[in-house]
Amino acid sequence: MKLITDLRSDTVTKPTPAMLEAMFAAKVGDDVYGEDPTINELEAKAAAMFGKEAGIFCPSGTMTNQIAIKALTEPLTEVICDRTAHIYQYEGGGISFNSLASVALVDGVRGKMTPEQVESYIRPLNNIHFPETRLVALENTCNKGGGSYYNLAEIAAISEVCKRHNLPLHLDGARVFNALAASGDSALDYGKYFDSISICLSKGLGAPVGSLLLGSKELIQKALRIRKVLGGGWRQAGYLAAACIYALDNHVERLQEDHVKAKVLSDVLENSNYVDSVLPVETNIVIFKLNQRYTDAAFVKALANEGIIAASFGPQMVRFVTHIDVTDEMLEHTVEVLKSLNEQVVAV
Ligand SMILES: *Cc1c(COP(=O)(O)O)cnc(C)c1O
Repeated sequence: MKLITDLRSDTVTKPTPAMLEAMFAAKVGDDVYGEDPTINELEAKAAAMFGKEAGIFCPSGTMTNQIAIKALTEPLTEVICDRTAHIYQYEGGGISFNSLASVALVDGVRGKMTPEQVESYIRPLNNIHFPETRLVALENTCNKGGGSYYNLAEIAAISEVCKRHNLPLHLDGARVFNALAASGDSALDYGKYFDSISICLSKGLGAPVGSLLLGSKELIQKALRIRKVLGGGWRQAGYLAAACIYALDNHVERLQEDHVKAKVLSDVLENSNYVDSVLPVETNIVIFKLNQRYTDAAFVKALANEGIIAASFGPQMVRFVTHIDVTDEMLEHTVEVLKSLNEQVVAV
């Protein structure tokens, strides 16, 4: 069988046999009645990890982000985030649809805003011309920033600005475990700085489905109602929660391996004659720009011919994401193919 290496995203992972066993063995109940013991266990476990009172299990990170924004804003208010933020770029314009709120887009560096930038976007109070600033949202790691991350000191400094202006701080932590693995910061400390935390177990941690929103009991009570309205009140989803518990217990420690693999790929790309530049690799994402030897479409096709699936990430841009299903053998094969492409003479 031909070796297929899927580097499009860390969402493509499939449950391991041991994870599947944990799923089969799950005790379940109707979660709309609050009776699924495995979901209740997962929500309590994740909340405790991040120093929060409560959690709510949802089908996607988009839903957890959108619920948090809805719960923490009102119509005619404004959310401050980086221009490249997933909540703005990749959630279908959901902030305007779900929350009737406006967005202030900050030009950060590789997805990261400074405290000064955040503060400069806070609107003056009591001026009817402006939307009211109501929420600040960070992304960690930053997807479009090439997996860049905020460390705890940077988060603390932005949190200080938010507290001074009485603004809640939301974390889109779809890849927060990668940020923690790279920075060495503790999840528990995050609870002090963020009012709401969205985490995905379906990315680097390898669960097939599942995200959680974590926050105060009051916030999660509100979130329950919003999740229901969005059609996200689910029933015996404990089979999925069991995969997420398994992922938290077994797949966090290994994330560093994905980061090492991403670095190997970026080192090869740095030395390839078809690459213009590579964003610095800090975690499991490699974003690079091709020179005129290849268009992104032609490059993605050349890789596909060798069983490597990658995603075009804009004109001349390509993204690789490493994850639990990328084996050493797949990495070696990808390195060989990337090196061999140096010898191809390509007419564009
Ligand atoms: C993947 C991702 C999400 C959530 O995506 P879903 O596919 O809805 O689970 C949110 N934020 C970031 C930064 C992401 O990369």
